Amino acid sequence: MDKYDYIIAGAGCAGLSLLHYLIQDESLSQKKILVIDKNLQKSNDRTWCFWEEGVSEFEHLITKSWVSISIHKAAQDYLLPTTPFTYKMIEGLSFYESIIHKAKQHNNIDWKEATIVAIKEHTVQWEGGSAKANYIFSSILSYNPVFKDSTSIQSLNSLSKNYSKKPFLWQHFKGETIQFETEVFDIETARLMDFNVDQQKATAFMYVLPITKKKALVEYTVFSKELLDKASYDTSIKNYLSLHYLNQAYSVLHEEFGAIPMTQNSFTTSNENSVIPIGTMGGAVKASTGYAFKFIQKQTKQIAIDLSNGKEPNSVLKKTRHQFYDAVLLDILYHDKMSGAEIFTRIFSKNKASTVFQFLSNTSSIFDDIKIMSTLPTRLFLFSAIRILLRWK
Ligand SMILES: Cc1cc2nc3c(=O)[nH]c(=O)nc-3n(C[C@H](O)[C@H](O)[C@H](O)COP(=O)(O)OP(=O)(O)OC[C@H]3O[C@@H](n4cnc5c(N)ncnc54)[C@H](O)[C@@H]3O)c2cc1C
Repeated sequence: MDKYDYIIAGAGCAGLSLLHYLIQDESLSQKKILVIDKNLQKSNDRTWCFWEEGVSEFEHLITKSWVSISIHKAAQDYLLPTTPFTYKMIEGLSFYESIIHKAKQHNNIDWKEATIVAIKEHTVQWEGGSAKANYIFSSILSYNPVFKDSTSIQSLNSLSKNYSKKPFLWQHFKGETIQFETEVFDIETARLMDFNVDQQKATAFMYVLPITKKKALVEYTVFSKELLDKASYDTSIKNYLSLHYLNQAYSVLHEEFGAIPMTQNSFTTSNENSVIPIGTMGGAVKASTGYAFKFIQKQTKQIAIDLSNGKEPNSVLKKTRHQFYDAVLLDILYHDKMSGAEIFTRIFSKNKASTVFQFLSNTSSIFDDIKIMSTLPTRLFLFSAIRILLRWK
């Protein structure tokens, strides 16, 4: 059986981010690494957006960035400058290809396209083979977050029911990259949340990211316990576009479907010290928003630093006060105590975008946290906070 220093099980966002940081570190660049994924022929299956200050680790891959965002609810329209943050977009395929291309120049890295069937005792097994390593970094989930048909929708709906310990909502969406024949978009502003859409008895909004004056990524997004049937996403996008752009013709250049778990339930399946969960599996998705890209960067960069310093790598995010706020916000959404439209409109309309971004990045000060949480009704906040505190371990 082949023996490696590290096996990266799953070459998606987290696996490839880790690889990126490992090959950047001189002291680790000669480690024997195996990367395994069931599909190494990557496609443009997702678009990542995130905010950050200054230049990105992946600046050369940014498709478009914005320095203002907008929030819309009924007749209320809020335009918020994001300075010193910039909201940025990276297309999945350019990210995958860029890291794979660089890593292929290193002959200490082996690649294997195979479906992993088990990970235990320093060993990764796939159909027809296995390999051992000192550390295995796994982002292999039991489900596919990119749903395509009614069968995958059903299996995601039944999966969330298996996690009953803590609230679990899906953030599910369909995105279309569309192109109009005429110039219709304001390219300066990312429309982060437009709640003037069918709320599906949950929280729903349209997300419009203009790439050029004619082209945009338009995403119908819902936070709810179950996914919708596929046609409902199409109908919402069509209705929205015909209402806002007066039935003008457009073509659909690309489609993406996705389901992101909004939960503090753990997906980790192994408690062995040699198996390090990363990405969604390693708790890197922020439960109250579904944002994960920047947390994945932080988590995988820290693992590379730990390995470089000869420390035990550990991806488990500690329980911070921000995770407590996540739990409270999720509790309010899950138990339908206040609509997401109301919560997010209040938070964004009463605070600077930069303060909200810091809060959502888990880097805000206690002073700012209090200011943000106090934009929610005190009784509602306290009721959920007490419920969370009673089961907080
Ligand atoms: C469509 C979509 C859009 C998103 N947009 C954003 C965004 O804008 N901003 C943001 O912050 N977050 C976003 N997210 C959330 C999060 O950033 C992504 O889901 C991210 O890709 C998670 O990284 P990961 O490595 O944990 O999982 P993945 O990127 O899904 O990687 C897992 C890898 O494991 C492989 N794999 C799975 N099972 C096996 C097996 N049995 N054997 C071998 N290989 C296997 C898969 O092929 C895949 O390559 C989005 C998610 C989706 C689905």
